[in-house]
Amino acid sequence: MSKESSLHIYNSLTRTKEIFKPLNPPFVGLYVCGPTVYSDVHLGNVRSFLTFDVVYRYLTYLGHNVRYVRNITDVGHLLDDSDTGDDKIEKRARLEKIEPMEIVQKYTNGFHNTVNQFNLLPPSIEPTATGHIIEQIEMIERIIKNGFAYEVNGSVYFDVKKYSEQHNYGELSGRKLDELLEQTRDNLEGGNEKRFFADFAIWKKASQETIMKWESPWGIGVPGWHLECSVMSTKYLGQEFDIHGGGMDLKFPHHECEIAQSVGADGTNPVKYWMHGNMLTVNGTKMSKSLGNSFLPEELISGDHPLLEKGYSPMTVRFFFLQANYKSTVDFSNDALQGAEKGLIKLMNGIETLSNLIPSEKSTIDINNIISNCNKSMDDDFNTPMTIAHLFDGLKVINSINDGKESIGASDLEKMQAHYNTFVFNILGLVSESSESQTNNVENELMDIIIELRKKSKENKDWSTADLIRDELGKLNISIKDSKDKSTWSYEE
Ligand code: ZN
Repeated sequence: MSKESSLHIYNSLTRTKEIFKPLNPPFVGLYVCGPTVYSDVHLGNVRSFLTFDVVYRYLTYLGHNVRYVRNITDVGHLLDDSDTGDDKIEKRARLEKIEPMEIVQKYTNGFHNTVNQFNLLPPSIEPTATGHIIEQIEMIERIIKNGFAYEVNGSVYFDVKKYSEQHNYGELSGRKLDELLEQTRDNLEGGNEKRFFADFAIWKKASQETIMKWESPWGIGVPGWHLECSVMSTKYLGQEFDIHGGGMDLKFPHHECEIAQSVGADGTNPVKYWMHGNMLTVNGTKMSKSLGNSFLPEELISGDHPLLEKGYSPMTVRFFFLQANYKSTVDFSNDALQGAEKGLIKLMNGIETLSNLIPSEKSTIDINNIISNCNKSMDDDFNTPMTIAHLFDGLKVINSINDGKESIGASDLEKMQAHYNTFVFNILGLVSESSESQTNNVENELMDIIIELRKKSKENKDWSTADLIRDELGKLNISIKDSKDKSTWSYEE
């Protein structure tokens, strides 16, 4: 091996040839396509990952042992998905003049920061494509062995035509090959290595300039993007697993190709249920960078964007997303966001009221319906908007108990409090944001006491104590202004 190539080949580990069997079944397997870490995560991604965060939370609440796998795509995602483009990460690395792995680290960190802000739970496993090159090569070998892939000039393509003779390529997306041919007629021109227009690369020969590349039986190259998810989902969740999720835009070709690869390699479609989250729109138009109507999560939080009247807290945004079904589009507008902001405050105030209710001898209300309705709506394909509506129905009951129009017994009250805490904080994953304002309240009350003490000292002509208080506050950059009838305080700039 030349010095040059050994420098640039990322691994040359001994391959195991072992077919992996996941440990410790039974569990509910949940696989979600994670981000390609070459740029800042956008709001559409946040919404999609939030959908599966709630799925993860609810299944866990039901008592399942959920193994949640969400990958990081750190190599192999071609720019235009046409198998001919440049790797997105490498392109970005050249632009920023840093190592591809620095790009990967930078945007992985950014992704984690963003999802933490929105209170998304971390997955059980977060595997990376570069960490599973060996398994990807092994899967390609199985596909070739079964006759569903062929090699040309150091690249390997999935043979969609051959596959379609025995299986249904398009079973997930409902697309028909002849319709696809119409749509992609242009792609046929210019002659390429593919035997058939719909074939896709599962291994791509690396060019001299490619930085991240690996040795394989077909020469030095990189895995195709669709392959990593087929490999990592089945490696950690088994040959058959429960739920595979992702954004609607991944249904075709990404997920369709995943099915074909798994069937081609191992004879089975591993996924029992597919879930696809819908898109975001802004004032009724598709959110897109090119239309100038897209904003980053930070811009939404700070309000620093021409389309936004103000900033919205991460929990307002989370609540706003959950008010829509994951299968529906969500339309951003200032009115809708402000509505969500008010709704969230109302919900949190209701929980505060609930926690302060005083129980009576017995209940005049039936709380079982209120509780079971939320379970029913979540059981109905994770219907979060309906669940929120039920929680608001319950708020009316809570308020009428608080007003003395109804009463609630001690054990019912305990059940109601547990129900609201579980659904609002554990399942919908909302966090009370009032802790900051509560801190401010305590601060205000403490300052009132200090100002009162200083006033008393002055009345008693105890000037040294009055000065001591002023000087010590000064050390904390707090200044006191005295006027005729009262003293006020403020932080100095
Ligand atoms: Zn994927």
